[in-house]
Amino acid sequence: MLNRRRFLTITSGLAGAALASQLPVARAFGTPAFANYPFSLGVASGDPLPDGVVLWTRLAPDPFTPDGGMPHYQFPVQWKVCNDEAMTEVVREGTALATPEYAHSVHVDVRGLRPDRWYYYQFRAGSELSPVGRTRTAPAPGTASGSLVFTMASCQNFPAGYFAAYRHMAERDLDLVVHLGDYIYEGPAQGSLGRGHLPAKGCQTLEDYRIRYAQYKSDADLQAAHAAAPWLVSLDDHEVQNNWTGTDTDESFLRRRAAALQAYYENQPVRLSSPPQGPDMVLYRRLTFGDLASFSVLDTRQYRSDQPCGGGIKPRCAEALDPAQTMTGPEQERWLLEGLDASTARWNLIAQQTIMAELDFLAGPGEEYQTDNWAGYVAARERILSFLHQRRPANPVVLSGDIHATFVNDLKLNFADPASPTIGTELICTSITSGKPDHLNDRIEAARGDNPHVKFYNGRQRGYVRCEVTAQELRSDLLFLDDVTDPDSAVRTQATYVVESGRPGAEQVA
Ligand code: FE
Ligand code: CA
Repeated sequence: MLNRRRFLTITSGLAGAALASQLPVARAFGTPAFANYPFSLGVASGDPLPDGVVLWTRLAPDPFTPDGGMPHYQFPVQWKVCNDEAMTEVVREGTALATPEYAHSVHVDVRGLRPDRWYYYQFRAGSELSPVGRTRTAPAPGTASGSLVFTMASCQNFPAGYFAAYRHMAERDLDLVVHLGDYIYEGPAQGSLGRGHLPAKGCQTLEDYRIRYAQYKSDADLQAAHAAAPWLVSLDDHEVQNNWTGTDTDESFLRRRAAALQAYYENQPVRLSSPPQGPDMVLYRRLTFGDLASFSVLDTRQYRSDQPCGGGIKPRCAEALDPAQTMTGPEQERWLLEGLDASTARWNLIAQQTIMAELDFLAGPGEEYQTDNWAGYVAARERILSFLHQRRPANPVVLSGDIHATFVNDLKLNFADPASPTIGTELICTSITSGKPDHLNDRIEAARGDNPHVKFYNGRQRGYVRCEVTAQELRSDLLFLDDVTDPDSAVRTQATYVVESGRPGAEQVA
């Protein structure tokens, strides 16, 4: 804690300076001022409300350099929101300042929009126009909405494959993309596809993370998915460092964490209640879509206790059962449960990172669990699941990523007893590109009989999950790419599962 306090005093002054920038505004506005196209990273929107949405872009004429090719002064960026894709019927417009302190990113929290509607948006910097993005506001509270289509995405290690899953996502109807973490990977991996990581040394500093995001954001398929619909983003470990937790508090790691979280903010269409402040950024939040659906977006890294039992895949040790083990921290846990208790939504979706259902990796007698997921935080999981059982918020569905495999799981009051009540469903999307070693797939497939609450498993292919929610049901298509190393790969629906409202547990229908 001493380290953290000292670190905060070092950095809080800097954050304050960034807020009230004394830097001059560019005088070149209105004249061609860019060596290259400045909207090289595309546009995005996110965190939709009934009356507004966050619009994002970043000026980066030379994206793979520390400053993105931008001079060290503030730059005005005009934005407008229209009813039509031709951008003629203007609904809202304004000017935002892109500052070098935030890598010339722009976050416009547009308000005054009408609920449950599609809008189009575009930015202008100097004489350059951005691509046109499409976004949608949420239905108003108390209103019934016919349906909501959202996709689940996670784990997009750039060198491991092409983002074809995003191209397919963007080509079909969708209202929302829910990202469950590992939007970037921080390491030096190069892969064999000619998509090696930048910077090749891996990410430690703010400049490193900025270049890493620029590399991912330069991908045309990812840009298409961002431009097609608003996103709800969360983060997991690789946005900062493999398997980090809130207990990693040495000063060099906190510096790295502050750099990583700032770059995350600079590159994502999020609405923060307060600006990034050193190594801390409040990212858990709840978005509501009329009476139909509520998304509680969790942060299971910043407030998490350390992985128990020495980490890895292990027989369960006493530490994993310690009631003090937490994924969310007590404050976020209280916020989650109180929010679920107060919710009037038909579907209560919990978007978070690691597999929540029990997963025994050891076929036959004995058990082994992965300590980085909820299996290492048993009491915290039990508090949530027994709350769901006792307080009965409507139709709880947990949305997870991280494990590079698609699962459909029954969430059981007691996973050791197949007769114990099913109190909700967990859907896990496979990775967009990140690999899963054969030996882990072999183990999980061999132990299917040890995990009867797992109804579907595929860790051999990459892809995404597409969900359509109505008052009656949540229907999820499990989509997989033929070949993630082929940029033109087709995608196929391998199975479709339905959860009927009022009946916990998913059933296969196709
Ligand atoms: Fe991952
Ligand atoms: Ca076993």
